[in-house]
Formats: sequence, C-alpha cells, structure tokens
Amino acid sequence: MTATTITAAPNSFRTQPDERGHFGQFGGRYVAETLMPLILELEREYNRAKADPAFTEQFNDLLEHYVGRPSPLYYAERLTDELRKSAPEGHGAQVWFKRDELNHTGAHKINNCVGQILLAMRMGKTRIIAETGAGQHGVATATVCARFGLPCVIYMGQTDVVRQQPNVFRMKLLGAEVVPVTSGAATLKDAMNEALRDWVAHVDDTFYIIGTAAGPHPYPELVRDFQSVIGKEARAQMLSRTGRLPDVLVAAIGGGSNAIGLFHPFLDDPGVKMLGVEAAGHGLDKEHAASLAGGAPGVLHGNKTYLLQDDDGQITEAHSISAGLDYPGIGPEHAWLRDVGRVDYTSATDKEALDAFQLLCRTEGIIPALEPSHAIAAVAKLAPTLPRDSIILANLCGRGDKDIFTVAEHLGAKI
Ligand SMILES: *Cc1c(COP(=O)(O)O)cnc(C)c1O
Repeated sequence: MTATTITAAPNSFRTQPDERGHFGQFGGRYVAETLMPLILELEREYNRAKADPAFTEQFNDLLEHYVGRPSPLYYAERLTDELRKSAPEGHGAQVWFKRDELNHTGAHKINNCVGQILLAMRMGKTRIIAETGAGQHGVATATVCARFGLPCVIYMGQTDVVRQQPNVFRMKLLGAEVVPVTSGAATLKDAMNEALRDWVAHVDDTFYIIGTAAGPHPYPELVRDFQSVIGKEARAQMLSRTGRLPDVLVAAIGGGSNAIGLFHPFLDDPGVKMLGVEAAGHGLDKEHAASLAGGAPGVLHGNKTYLLQDDDGQITEAHSISAGLDYPGIGPEHAWLRDVGRVDYTSATDKEALDAFQLLCRTEGIIPALEPSHAIAAVAKLAPTLPRDSIILANLCGRGDKDIFTVAEHLGAKI
C-alpha cells in the first residue's frame, strides 16, 4: 500500500487531484514541453467553466435534449430470478441497471464529448482530434463535431479499423476523417500516441478530446466530472425508487471513465461497496487487459498509473474480446482508489463476458456491448453470494449492435 497525499476534506474519497494533478502517487502531467502551456490553459479554462452557470446550463441542456438523459434506472427482474436459481437459501441480490446504453450513439462516451467540445469552443479551438479503440469514442466525437460544425480527425489502430467496420463507416458518415494507425499492435495505445503527436504539431488551433478518465491532468478530473452525471442520476433515482442506496456498484473498466462516473458520487457513502471489472481476456496468466491485476506503476500517455509492462518497462499489448477494454493502462484515480482500498477490482475473461452477453439477451431482451458484459459476468458471480434484500447496481454503459459480428464469430453455429 502506498502513501498518499490527498487534497480533499479529511475522511473523503471524493478528492480533487493536487495542483500538479496527482491522486496519491498517480496521475500528473508527463507531456512534451510544447504541450505544457496548452495543458495549463485547458486547466484554467476548465476551472472557469465549472464556475460558470451558463456552461453548466448548456451542458445539461444538451444532455437532456440531444443525448436523451436522464437514462432509466431499471430493475432486471428476470435476470435476478435466473441468478437466484443457483443461490443458497435467502440469497440472490436484486440486480439493477443504469441504462446508459440508451444514450444517443449507444454508450456513455457522448456525455464526456459534449462537455469537452463545449470547452473547446470556449477556448476558441477550431479543429478537433481524438483517438478511438472500439470506435465508440470516435463516433461520439464525430457526432458532437457534426453537431457544432467543427472538423474532426480520428486516430484509430488498423487492427481496430478492421474489427469495428460499422463504427468506421459511422464516423465517415458524420463527416470525420479516420486515420488508420499501423504502429505497434495498431490498437488503442498506438492511436493515442498518434493523436498526442498531432496535438503537439497543431497546438494553436486543435483541441484533443480524450475518451477516458486518463491522460495528463486535467483530463482524468474533467472526464470524471462530465461522466459523473451517471452516478448523480443513479443515486437520486435509486433513492426515489427504493428509498435507499445500493449495496454494491459494478462497472466495466477500460480506462475507467464509465466506472468513475458511476462510482464518484457514491464514494463518501460508506455503506456502498464498489467493484471495477477489468478484462481478463484469455486469462490473467495469458493475454489480457487487466492493468491493476497484472500491471505495475509506470508512465504512459501523460500520466502515472498501473500499466501492463515487461521487466524492462516496455508496455505490453493488451488483449480483450472487447475493443473498448483493450488498453494496457487505467485512469490514475482508479489506481489510487485501489491502493487506498475504497474500490475493489476484479476481472472477467472473454468467455465469461460472452456467456454474460447471452444471459442478458435472453433474460431481459437487452443486447449489451461486450464491455458491460464483463460487468454482468461479475454480477452473475456476486449476486448469488449476497442476501436477497441487497441491491447490486451495474452500469450498462453501451449497447451491443457494434459487437454482434464479433459475437457471431465466436459463437458461430452454437446460437
Ligand atoms: C469505451 C467503452 C468502455 C471503456 O471505457 P471506460 O473509459 O473504461 O468507460 C466501456 N464500455 C463501452 C460501451 C465503451 O464504449
């Protein structure tokens, strides 16, 4: 366990990072010198925006009328009953979902993109760049760029371009330029490197919309704040529907933005446990994407956090059936919350995610994305161990339309 310096009120886990962007030993801003003035300008502008009621009003208005918020809070009755079949007497928690898969563009990514493009326009930036893995962040970025009439360049690993064709086509329809990246394993990490390179070359007019709660300070903080709408809504909805808070929150983790968005508003509720679910791929002893379970602290993409790396500190390739979880790092606030013991982290394999995917399709008539299928896999293990009157709330952070071809490939004739 690591020593931590936190700037929050004593006994609070709802921290702001310190002035250099650290959550304990994690986070910070390890960027090229050319980017430093821009990062500082972004931090100043974000602080001004946070204090400006007009910014909040515009953000909330777009979330309501363009994104379709608030998303429903849903009691998954048939899934609950199904999981109770294998539970000991008196056990089998209620399973509830926050339905962020119903957002415009099909995932939680749009919440953050709306916030960041409003910031970009406040800063007078006229060109938007982003990286994408599964393509969900690319689609969400291309969407807000079309909405506000800004040119958009999306960096995407060539491997992902091939396995996420429908999203590539969507981005192009929305007017974005998609640049395939062939370096490294040609996945998300490489796309992020390329986007950072573009940013260094175009600091004057370009805003980089980062898609998860990682990267140099202030990105982890501002992405978290924009995604916290998930947890704020869920907390109020749960209180009004059941008169109480959930016992456990569960969310899938790629870089950690949907998870921190759900968790953050509950961090100071001592009765609420939290479980982040990393992608265990083929297994934790084989190829996987579980940076907390199988990584060590290091620096990548502007922040210090847990990273998958070899003995020489070379970043190793992540693997997950889900392109959105296929990242060798994790947001620094999660690294800190793990080390201080506030949030528990586990993992689910490709196979477990595929099983959970089918379970949700058949019990609830909801086709989830493969990312939240990892969270559902963890829920399926956890629910039978908890008393019947306990409540699990999981984030259904994306819908599965984009994944049906991947799933078909794996299940083939078995369906
Ligand atoms: C991108 C994505 C993720 C992973 O990103 P986080 O920042 O960890 O939330 C998870 N689920 C879906 C549906 C995604 O599109």
